[in-house]
Amino acid sequence: MIAMIVKMQTLVDYIVAHSPCRDKEALARLNHYVWITFIMIPLSLATAFYNLYIQHFILSISLILFCIYLIGSLFIIPNTPKVYQIYYTAVIFFSTLFLYLVYQSDEDYSLILWLFTYPVGIIFLLGNRMGFILSISLLAMSALLFLTMEHINDTYTLAFSVRFFITYIVVTSIVSWIEYYRARYQAETLRTQAALLLEQANLKKEIQRRTILEKELQRLAQTDPMTSLFNRRHFLKLAQKEITRAIRYHYTLCFAVLDVDYFKRINDTLGHPVGDIVVKTLANYLQKSLRENDIVARIGGEEFAFLLLHVNEEQARVKMEKVREEISQIVVNYSDSKELRLTVSIGLAMLSEVTNTLDSLYMKADQKLYEAKKAGRNCVR
Ligand code: GH3
Ligand code: MG
Ligand code: MG
Repeated sequence: MIAMIVKMQTLVDYIVAHSPCRDKEALARLNHYVWITFIMIPLSLATAFYNLYIQHFILSISLILFCIYLIGSLFIIPNTPKVYQIYYTAVIFFSTLFLYLVYQSDEDYSLILWLFTYPVGIIFLLGNRMGFILSISLLAMSALLFLTMEHINDTYTLAFSVRFFITYIVVTSIVSWIEYYRARYQAETLRTQAALLLEQANLKKEIQRRTILEKELQRLAQTDPMTSLFNRRHFLKLAQKEITRAIRYHYTLCFAVLDVDYFKRINDTLGHPVGDIVVKTLANYLQKSLRENDIVARIGGEEFAFLLLHVNEEQARVKMEKVREEISQIVVNYSDSKELRLTVSIGLAMLSEVTNTLDSLYMKADQKLYEAKKAGRNCVR
């Protein structure tokens, strides 16, 4: 039984999914309407055949027409954005049929009992407010028939009529009440769901914002603001890591320091801003001149450091000679198309059994730089 209901729901969902209507509340009502048609079609057909058998042709034909309408309406759903028109047509059909049942008034009082299905179906379909109004309207119209039609009055006793009207009102009220709470609960759930989705979206945005901020902070902490090269602290951290790895995996590594020759002179004669331009130009060149996995950093005012990976001493020297040579060819432009040239001195230190720590490599490279300066500058030692 449950499996059958689940299968039916799949079919109901399939029909509802084809509706052009997108409003959630309207789609929930449509779901109810399709369920009602699924229940009403076999019920109406069975009743129609029964009435055919007892030769109640008007009722039988009306029920068959009603059935045809219900089946037809399922095919109209994919093309109708205003689904309420389908419901109200069905409701008019349904109400007329029920008034006819009241008008028919049979001796054993059984026909009129069908009326109790009206408020249940209508409130389920149209919600508590419209459902309640229509249910009470049907009751009012029935009351009018009771009062004006002689044969109805003769069929039912007064006690039956009173009990019928009271029980109908009770059923209508209770169903309305239940539907009211169901709709309120559903609306609250939808609101909570929407608020949760919004919160989730905001949270996602905030996480993205913080990730970007964190990356930016990290970049700021690792780089030198003037040249955007790595700063001294980050370079030493990376160098320590690379030295440990090079020792473990037995690969070669060269630590080099570069210092601009007579830089104080540039500052003193042309001013600090020109000195800054020289530093930036140099940084720009260095960044472009190295291999991707080599590391370069600005470790001081006009001092730069390098970590060349997987090179032997000769290769490192050739590389740094090339750098020195190319720097000496650089023409730095400063205010009003004035030009200046610069040279640099470089000291190298290879990772070896003796020089196998960051400190010792740094010290050795510095010592070599000093030697380069002493040897007349613009050279590699
Ligand atoms: P040497 O050939 O021996 O290296 O001579 P030098 O004049 O270059 O001497 P040193 O390397 O000791 O000079 C460093 C100078 O760099 C000192 C300081 O005025 C200058 N300096 C340090 N940082 C900056 C900076 O950010 N901008 C500028 N314009 N100058 C800086
Ligand atoms: Mg210096
Ligand atoms: Mg210098």
